[in-house]
Amino acid sequence: MKYCPKCKAYTEHKVKVETVRKLRRALSKGQRRAERRSKGHGNHGRYSKKPISQWKLHAKTTRKIDLVLTCTVCGTSRHVSLRRMKRFEVVKV
Ligand SMILES: [Zn+2]
Repeated sequence: MKYCPKCKAYTEHKVKVETVRKLRRALSKGQRRAERRSKGHGNHGRYSKKPISQWKLHAKTTRKIDLVLTCTVCGTSRHVSLRRMKRFEVVKV
């Protein structure tokens, strides 16, 4: 049971773990350019290197968890961010 701001009551919610998956249109121009350049042959200029976060810095071993809560009464969904943790499981109570 979670509070739903639309129903203004505590209702049953469906919980989904949000994954990083954006719509194509949501990609920035730079990301689209990088994708185009990294196709084909040869050196891809500054896109040859992976993002620094992928080959240097390994300070963080955890990820923040984002949840999508969907109210089963009115159907509105909202996002909730949780703390950093290594593993997260949705436990059905
Ligand atoms: Zn609701």
